[in-house]
Amino acid sequence: MSDTFLQDAKSYLYGNYRPASVVFERGEGCELIDVNGKRYLDMCAGVAVCAVGHAHPTWVRRVSEQAARVAHVSNYFYNRENILLAKELCKRSGMDRAFFCNSGAEANEALAKLALHHYFAKGDFARTRFIAFDNAFHGRTLGSLALTGTPKYREGFGSALSVTHVPYGDLNAVVAAMEKNGGGDVAAIIVETVQGEGGVLPASKEFLLGLREIATKAGSLVLVDEVQTGMGRTGSLFGFQTAGVKPDAVSLAKGLAGGFPIGGMLTTAELAGALPPGTHGSTFGGNPLACAAALAVLEILDEENIVEQVAEKGAYLANRLGELVTAFPSVCESTRGQGLLRGLVLRPGFVAREILPKLLERGLLVTAAGDRVLRFTPPLVVSLEELGRAVDCTREVLLELEIAQTRTTSAGF
Ligand SMILES: *Cc1c(COP(=O)(O)O)cnc(C)c1O
Repeated sequence: MSDTFLQDAKSYLYGNYRPASVVFERGEGCELIDVNGKRYLDMCAGVAVCAVGHAHPTWVRRVSEQAARVAHVSNYFYNRENILLAKELCKRSGMDRAFFCNSGAEANEALAKLALHHYFAKGDFARTRFIAFDNAFHGRTLGSLALTGTPKYREGFGSALSVTHVPYGDLNAVVAAMEKNGGGDVAAIIVETVQGEGGVLPASKEFLLGLREIATKAGSLVLVDEVQTGMGRTGSLFGFQTAGVKPDAVSLAKGLAGGFPIGGMLTTAELAGALPPGTHGSTFGGNPLACAAALAVLEILDEENIVEQVAEKGAYLANRLGELVTAFPSVCESTRGQGLLRGLVLRPGFVAREILPKLLERGLLVTAAGDRVLRFTPPLVVSLEELGRAVDCTREVLLELEIAQTRTTSAGF
């Protein structure tokens, strides 16, 4: 059955992705089921999107109820769910205003426009430069792409923004970048509290607090990209809360609506007037269906005390992945991450992307981050038993890699 689909996929879908040869049809909790009926344990969760798992009954009910009421009205009018969601997110984040769009890249686009226009409106026309970090990922639209710190993603697309990229974790480099043109031209520093796509690299608390201090001193803003780390992923509802740092604005997307497309920007009251009517907007942004899906996620997180359990589940996964590092030292280098955003770092020479099909064959879905990191971003509702099963499955594949490696090494003698 999947063969026909796979043929049609090659004929009709644009070839900008490199999808695995599996066609999914259904999901239940932490499992996905393909068109042949085979079940897979999902440690990808649509790349940290399906926070409450697949087809959670409350989520399904809330989204269906909203679809039956009204899906879209445009921003020429208010809608109830939009207002309710803005209030909930502001209350829980300590921020003051919310803007909604449809994706992570769009949310970061909003952050960049917010920073630029904030200074423009104040008559500070020099502040047009951004400081971002090597290996950072901020999205694929031209503005977000310019902020993204992996040169191969940017190649051939120019740079829509003026950006200085510096090593992640290096405060001295940030100070030097701030002063690069004599100072006074940096609108904002943009940072992820854990670099997700870049290889699951958590920032230290000192680094994030240091950025805040440097930016404040220079009169620049701190923008935190919480597209992947937000909505409980790191053990607090937002990654900046884990670090105890106060941003000027935050971007959200991925887990926010549990699988329904949405993006969001939260700002302080000081920035509430930086983008007045006419300067930014989105036709779909903040529509009642997307907002109802996000409200359903918050309702489930509350009802099942999910965020409080993330640290414990994350520690369990980290320990179990640590066992793999100890058991297969010739294949694995280390494990790192925060909460339920975890990476198993492979030794140089191994390519994470090439190992994924072996895991898929055994019914396990994980993703690669950077070149040699296997990334685990399970639904936050995952059980310890499911995490254990994922690790056991990974162990089988690592054993296979170790045996293959021994064979090639001994063949060399
Ligand atoms: C995924 C991601 C984005 C881009 O989100 P899209 O919805 O794909 O546009 C931006 N920033 C971070 C940190 C991400 O992980």
